[in-house]
Amino acid sequence: MGLIRSIVKRAAVLMLAAAVLLCALSCSTNKTTRKQSFTIFDIFDTVITVTVYTDDDALFAKLSEETKALFTRYHRLFDVYNEYEGSNNLACINRLAGQSVKTEPEILELLSLGREYEELTGGAVNIAMGAVLRLWHASREAAQADPENAGVPAISELEEAAKHCNINDVVLDPEACTVTLRDPLMSIDVGAIAKGFAADKAAELLKAYDVPFLMNCGGAVLTGGNKPDGSAWKAGINDPKGSSDEFAATVSIEDGALSTSGSYLRSFTVAGKEYGHIIDPATLMPAEGVASVSVLCRGAGGACLADALSTACFILGVDRSKSILSAAGAEALFIECDGEIVMTEAFPIAE
Ligand code: AMP
Ligand code: MG
Repeated sequence: MGLIRSIVKRAAVLMLAAAVLLCALSCSTNKTTRKQSFTIFDIFDTVITVTVYTDDDALFAKLSEETKALFTRYHRLFDVYNEYEGSNNLACINRLAGQSVKTEPEILELLSLGREYEELTGGAVNIAMGAVLRLWHASREAAQADPENAGVPAISELEEAAKHCNINDVVLDPEACTVTLRDPLMSIDVGAIAKGFAADKAAELLKAYDVPFLMNCGGAVLTGGNKPDGSAWKAGINDPKGSSDEFAATVSIEDGALSTSGSYLRSFTVAGKEYGHIIDPATLMPAEGVASVSVLCRGAGGACLADALSTACFILGVDRSKSILSAAGAEALFIECDGEIVMTEAFPIAE
């Protein structure tokens, strides 16, 4: 896979229009089909916006309600901090590490994908790394509460936790619908893939309604169908060093999913140094090789795959990501720390 190098000029970046990390830049000329949007708050620690084209208000109300219910269900199932009445979620599975836990089929589906992605990414994305990720999470929370006394986890603590991150200790029994974490000191963290998984399920639901849609789910943007004027949906990729309304590039997304990972999204500072939230399993420290990576995947399950790959490519950097991206049939755009943009040959930059 060839790579094209190009330098993006800041002036061009500033000319591009507003919004959050990634957003729709649609402008339909069709006057008979209305563009309508709804927003979901407090799910997966992000804001989810769905835009569809339909004149049917009853249908719009129905698909909005169903999409909200779907995201709420997955938010609860994949929550690693809180447990809820009615089903055994990931927080429960983590609390009962060492025991077999009867759970919901979607949890097995997500964990099974997690196992696949660990293999695909050569261990860069490992959902069994909860023990290590918890230490970084605790340091980040403490730093946010008391920035003056911010610190990072001790390497000895990290190394001890890393002994309890073996993906093969996540044992799935689809027939009994149980999950067993064989190591009582291990825990699951699906932060790298859960949003993409839920977004894929929401996209299936919206496709069944046969409306063109664009969904912006935190770091993931998915589209279905073209806009009524026949043009493809477009999304902006944030400039990691700019403000939240500055884009480094604009992408054309035709029936696909784009996921962006960047440490600028969730970091904390200790003694003037920034620490990101994506942890390299090889060093147990935040990855810092690139500023952001956006991965585009097409087909069923594309958002979950793109979510896993954007996290992995952020850790691995441009060169080590090449073979993984081509094995997965994915395209990617990297923004390096100096602002240089590197992308795979067929990455669909919008003119
Ligand atoms: P994303 O924003 O999709 O790149 O995912 C980042 C989240 O994934 C972090 O907040 C952690 O919860 C989790 N995470 C960080 N590093 C890893 C890793 N190496 N493998 C699996 N999950 C990770
Ligand atoms: Mg991810």
